[in-house]
Amino acid sequence: MKKIAILGSTGSIGVNTLNVIRKFPKLFDVEVLCTNTNIELLEKQIEEFEPRYAVVNNQELSEILKKKINKNICVLSKQDGMLEAVRNADYDILIAAMVGFSGLLPTIESIKRSKKIGLANKETLVSAGELVIELARKYKSEIIPIDSEHSAIFQCLVGEKNESIEKIILTASGGPFLNTPIEELSNVTVDEALKHPKWAMGSKITIDSATMMNKGLEVIEAYHLFNLPLNKIDIVIHPESVIHSMVKFNDGSIKAQLSIPDMRIPIQYALTYPDRLPNDFIQTDFAEIGSLTFLEADRNKFGCLQLAYNALQEGGLKPCILNAANEVAVNKFLKKEIKFTQIIHLINEAMNKINNSSASDLEQILQCDCKTREFVNNIKI
Ligand code: MN
Repeated sequence: MKKIAILGSTGSIGVNTLNVIRKFPKLFDVEVLCTNTNIELLEKQIEEFEPRYAVVNNQELSEILKKKINKNICVLSKQDGMLEAVRNADYDILIAAMVGFSGLLPTIESIKRSKKIGLANKETLVSAGELVIELARKYKSEIIPIDSEHSAIFQCLVGEKNESIEKIILTASGGPFLNTPIEELSNVTVDEALKHPKWAMGSKITIDSATMMNKGLEVIEAYHLFNLPLNKIDIVIHPESVIHSMVKFNDGSIKAQLSIPDMRIPIQYALTYPDRLPNDFIQTDFAEIGSLTFLEADRNKFGCLQLAYNALQEGGLKPCILNAANEVAVNKFLKKEIKFTQIIHLINEAMNKINNSSASDLEQILQCDCKTREFVNNIKI
């Protein structure tokens, strides 16, 4: 029996993790569930999975939940409560599925307990990749990616040597604006940006997919996870999202991992790795799919891609600045305070105006994140 802690249990990755766990009741036991504000869903999850700890980021909502629950469950709140649960609960695997930078500290705490990490929270590696990977090595904590592209690459690399890799090729759906002319992007609405053609996900990552910042963040994530130089990380647009990513080896051979899009597959792999277990989730029917197509990624139209490459090239705190500025800008767009094309403008400003330095300690990273958020919030549009 593996014991599981899920941070972000009411989001799309969290819900799908519980969908996988529900199929294997003899294999997995849920110890920690955690939400930002969705206590209605959390309450149902608690009823069904009976964890030891439940954490609600919002303190008022955690008090409401506490009154409703009469089981022997420890209900905690805010970041401190989450850290307490991560430090004290008895679990084998942490599923890090929170949104954005908020996933960093609890993931680090879990790494320090040498836990296995199922990592869906890419912002953790974008903001603090060097530090997180170094800690994982030091504490012998295994990081298994849940992001579908990185899971694909991870699966392709089983049994391979790092020096045999010529390059990895991240596939990208291209998002809802793949065929929108560049001059029309400034007028797209929030609703249009939230209509992802292939994946149903939370609003932050869906907007990131529309700007293609998501793929930029994934390049940085891959750089840290697979310890490869930037020139060995490529992107190709693949609108069908059947190939989840590929690895090209030095003998010219290319391996890919394929399936029709379903996050339960990479989640299950992270939970059962190195084993595979049969399930009845989906069937991939190639005759029905018909054809797979590929296009070059346009870094001019999707400028966020270029910004991510630049951030990685400059190194230090730049990826942290990129991530924090993006989180604030996406939030402003979702609240209809800025236009779609102003997202990149705000990130650009932060990248240009905030001084860089090395990103070797956590305190610097936390300060940089804070400073960037304040800076972007004060930019006059
Ligand atoms: Mn992805």
